[in-house]
Formats: sequence, C-alpha cells, structure tokens
Amino acid sequence: MKRLAILGSTGSIGTQALDVVSSHPDLFRVEVLSAHSNTELLIAQARKYKPNAVVVTNDAKYETVKKALESEPVKVFAGQASLTEVVCWESVDIILGAIVGFAGLRSIYAAVDAGKRIALANKETLVVAGDLVMQRAAETGSVIIPVDSEHSAIFQCLVGEYHEAIEKVILTASGGPFRGKKPNFLVNVKASHALQHPNWTMGAKITIDSATLMNKGLEMIEAKWLFGLKNEQIDVIVHPQSAVHSFVQFTDGSLKAQAGIPDMKLPIQYALAYPQRLPNTFKRYDFKEFANLTFEEPDYKTFRNLALAKEAMFKGGNTPCVLNAANEVTVQAFLQNRVDFLEMSDIIEKTMAKVDFVAAPSFADYEYSDAEARKYAEELVKQSPLATH
Ligand code: NAD
Ligand code: MG
Repeated sequence: MKRLAILGSTGSIGTQALDVVSSHPDLFRVEVLSAHSNTELLIAQARKYKPNAVVVTNDAKYETVKKALESEPVKVFAGQASLTEVVCWESVDIILGAIVGFAGLRSIYAAVDAGKRIALANKETLVVAGDLVMQRAAETGSVIIPVDSEHSAIFQCLVGEYHEAIEKVILTASGGPFRGKKPNFLVNVKASHALQHPNWTMGAKITIDSATLMNKGLEMIEAKWLFGLKNEQIDVIVHPQSAVHSFVQFTDGSLKAQAGIPDMKLPIQYALAYPQRLPNTFKRYDFKEFANLTFEEPDYKTFRNLALAKEAMFKGGNTPCVLNAANEVTVQAFLQNRVDFLEMSDIIEKTMAKVDFVAAPSFADYEYSDAEARKYAEELVKQSPLATH
C-alpha cells in the first residue's frame, strides 16, 4: 500500500490521479490532498477519500473548508507553508506534484530535501530550479518519476539502457490548435480559441502554453534536468496525432518510442506504480483510428515562445526562471484578454532582456528573479493596447 500526498488535487492532473487511486484501492491510499481555491471539490474529495489531512493553500478559504469537514476525521491546514511540512511526513510515501506554475516549487523542493519519492507533473519546478532540485535529489536519494507524457515516454524508453548510449531525445508536440497558422491569423485569436486543444483536456495555463508552444519549450528544459542532458541533445518534432509520446535516439542510430492513446491517466498511473505496470481498463490504441502518423518541423519563427524557451535553456542561470515568470504573467493576462496572442512573446523577450543575469543562482536568487520578472512583465502588460481599453 502506497500512501499519497496529492498536491493540486482539484486540477486536471489531480482529479485524474484520484481516478487512478479509485481503480486500485488495494495499492493506493490518500494521505494528503491540497488545493488553492476550489473548496467545493476539495471538500467532496476529502469526504470521499478520507485523507489524514487537507491543505488549503489560499488562507482566505480555510474557514470554509474547516467548517465543512468538522465532523470528518480530517486535519485541515492553511497556507503554502503547511504544504512544505506535510510532504515530509513519515506517513507519506509518494508526493504527486500537480500544482500549476512556480507556486509548486517550494513544496516539491521540501519533498526532495526529505528524500521522498515524487511523481512530478509540475514542470515549472524543473524549469525554474532544475539544477538545485536534481542536485539535492542526488544527495538525499529522492527519486523523481515524470508524469508529463513526453517525459514519461522518455523515461520508459530508457528503462534498461545506459545513460552514455543516449544520443538525443526528441519530444513530440501536437502543435496545438493553431498549427500551420501565421502571425496575421494569430494576432486576432482569443483565449476561447486557444483553450480548444485538439487532443488533450488540461488546465487553462498549460492549454494556453500548448497553443503558443511554450509548453514544449518548458518541456525541453524539464527534459534537460530530468535526464541529465546537454542542450544540444534535446529536439522537438511536431506530431499532430499525439500518438507517439516521444523518442529517444541512441548512439547506434536506433530510435525507441513510447506510444499510446493520449490519456494522462496512463503516465500518472505509471509514475505512481513504477516499477510495476498495473493492469487497467483504459481504452486501447486503435490502429484504424491512427492510420497515419505524421511528423513535421516546428515553426520557431511564428511560435516565438518556443524559440525564447530554447534560448533560455542555452543561456542557463536564472534565464529559464525569468522566462517562466514572464510566461505565467502573460498567460494570465491573455486569459483575461489584457494582451493579444503575439504580445505574449514580446513581453517575455523584453523581460528576459531586463532582469539581471545570475549564472549560478541560489534558491533565494530564483525567488528574487521570479518576483522581478513578474513585476516587469506586469508593467509591460499594462502598456498593451488591450489592457488600456
Ligand atoms: P490545473 O489548473 O487544472 O490545476 C492546478 C492545481 O493546482 C489545482 O488543484 C489548484 O488548486 C492548484 N493551485 C493553483 N494555484 C496554486 C497556488 N498558487 N498554490 C497552490 N496550489 C495551487 O492544472 P493542471 O492542468 O492539472 O496542471 C498541473 C501541472 O501539471 C502543471 O504544472 C502542468 O504543466 C502539468 N501537466 C499537466 C498536464 C495535463 O494534462 N493537465 C499534462 C502534463 C503536465
Ligand atoms: Mg507534456
């Protein structure tokens, strides 16, 4: 029996993880659940899964949750600081990091520090501070299993292989809803268009990131740290059917791929059960449905966020942290119709140029860079013609 702390249990990944738990009640037990503001769902989850504790990271929502769970044998905590404590509990075997954005970093770092096993969906943690996180994991023996489908694919391809035999990894990208479109089209797209992803149903932030291809850029940086790769060893190919989840190319030229229908429950279950593979009733791959698999080069010129992320990866230091912060601000602003689709890249680029470069940042440097980048990006958002209307 593995006891889980699911951080971000009300999100797209969190709720799918709970489905996995429900299908294997003999293998998984929920010890901790956390959410930020969806108190209604958090309360319902607590009643159903009877965890030892729930954490409401948004302090303002504490009273509501506390009151609703009065008659349940559940401890209720508030605030981000509580998260960093519960992940270290003896009674927690695996932490599923399913919080979105920079907000997920502290609790994951605390879990790494405590030598815990982590199933990691929160890619921003590695984008921002992958060097510190992986170094600390090596010291404490913390094992990080990726949940992101591309990284789960690479991880699965690497089981039984030697690290020296990796020539490169090739991340597949669906291309998102605007694949093949040009700037004259993109300038007019609204959040409602961008939220229509062709193959995956996900939280709002990652769905916008998929439309701008920033998601793939973040995933390049995530792959670099997870698999200890050089920047030159990471490639991206657009594959609109999302059936091949990624490739590893080895030094003998051999390619390994992991494929399947696009369903996040699969990599979630794999990460929670690793090294076991659990039987399930998920829909099976149908070759008639995916008769033609196609691959094409990404359009770095139109989807500038992907080029900016790649640039940040090569630059290193605090640049990916700055990129991430500016991106979180612009995605939020785009969702609120305060900037247009193309302005997002302008703002990220200007923020990357503005914030002072730090070559080997400490944790505090990352927090400072994140805050500086947010401040500056917010200023730029306010100057957008959309925001001033
Ligand atoms: P989501 O928006 O659906 O859910 C986010 C969760 O985080 C919610 O439970 C919310 O309560 C919590 N949260 C939000 N802000 C918070 C804050 N400030 N402090 C603490 N908790 C907060 O997001 P999602 O789509 O489930 O994505 C979660 C993470 O997984 C992201 O990093 C994303 O990139 C990654 N991921 C998601 C998918 C997917 O299919 N959804 C696939 C691959 C990777
Ligand atoms: Mg992914």
